[in-house]
Amino acid sequence: MTHLHKKYEFLNLGTVDAPYLPEIEEAVLRVLRSGRYIGGPEVERLESRLSALCGTTHAIGVSNGLDALRLILKAYVATGYMSPGDEVIVVANTFIASVLAIVDAGLTPVLIDPDPATSNLDTSLIEAAITPRTKAIMPVHLYGRVCWDETLRTIAAERGIKIIEDNAQAIGATSHLEGLRGSHTTGALGDAAAFSFYPTKNIGAIGDAGAITTSDATLATAVRALANYGSDRRYHNIYCGCNCRLDPVQAAILNVKLDHLADETARRRKIAGIYGTRIHNTKIRLPFDGKEACVWHQYVVHVDERDRFTSHLDSNGVGWDIHYATPPHMQPCFTGEGARRIKIPFPLQVTEKLASECVSLPISACTSETDAKEISDIINAF
Ligand SMILES: *Cc1c(COP(=O)(O)O)cnc(C)c1O
Repeated sequence: MTHLHKKYEFLNLGTVDAPYLPEIEEAVLRVLRSGRYIGGPEVERLESRLSALCGTTHAIGVSNGLDALRLILKAYVATGYMSPGDEVIVVANTFIASVLAIVDAGLTPVLIDPDPATSNLDTSLIEAAITPRTKAIMPVHLYGRVCWDETLRTIAAERGIKIIEDNAQAIGATSHLEGLRGSHTTGALGDAAAFSFYPTKNIGAIGDAGAITTSDATLATAVRALANYGSDRRYHNIYCGCNCRLDPVQAAILNVKLDHLADETARRRKIAGIYGTRIHNTKIRLPFDGKEACVWHQYVVHVDERDRFTSHLDSNGVGWDIHYATPPHMQPCFTGEGARRIKIPFPLQVTEKLASECVSLPISACTSETDAKEISDIINAF
């Protein structure tokens, strides 16, 4: 779809990043002049800030969010906790990277439906999907809403199944219920978590970047080695690793952006609040308004007649997007021959229905409070 000639742009990264440019330019120059182009103080500073933000003992900057997920899983394999063919339960309506990471680590994704009210993993389905090969569950905090409850806590505590958070969309979110090690913040709820700083995320780099948080020292050591050619010390390789390090230029930029995380979350909550109180159209199902916190990476509504609705938005100059129109299990790489790479224990009716009805409304820094009010009125007129 085109974002051109929209009065209310869905997203324009130039506009989003403009207020930070003076600080970003200074941060980039700092790296240029330091002569330290791999690792170094900016990377270390970002790592210690991320672990402090979440409440973990370790954070490791990496190349992107997909690599963060891959490295966590490969580290569990490298340290002998998982073996090829073991199963990881993951919600079926996620961005495909969650599923690709599991496959890439030689493991089998077991896809289960979300709860239609929250779009997050329906934890009541987990028990029936567990087999002797289940080694992990990957909750995805989709659209910025925390996915964490008593069921996940109990399964992790009683069966020793690892919880790997896909925290690409929910940096800084907190759960009403404490995580496995006391912290309430996403990134520290389970055993390990992956972050993405893809430019469109709530905290975005000027390119690709990601991170891993964990309080498991063995896992952290394995991840660090795997991300650096598998070496535990210079020219000594204990694993067949990869090069998935975080670029210090991106780390310096993220250190600037991270200063504004609380403001960014507050801004998103304000826009979501306007939509939530101002939109009242029985054809539009608003996002869940419950106790579990949300940092509003996306503001997603559901509508039966999606094509007619998006045409209405188009003709009124309102930008929109769809997250995601085709769920992973319906992508060409996982159908036909590819279907043997994934496991689907129960039909994915909720996933498929949500995929056909979801529409994301503008919530980036391009959207002012006045815009949100006007967009709400346009939606009420549908
Ligand atoms: C963005 C995203 C990823 C992948 O992150 P990249 O940095 O783009 O590799 C993984 N999972 C979810 C849920 C995402 O939104």
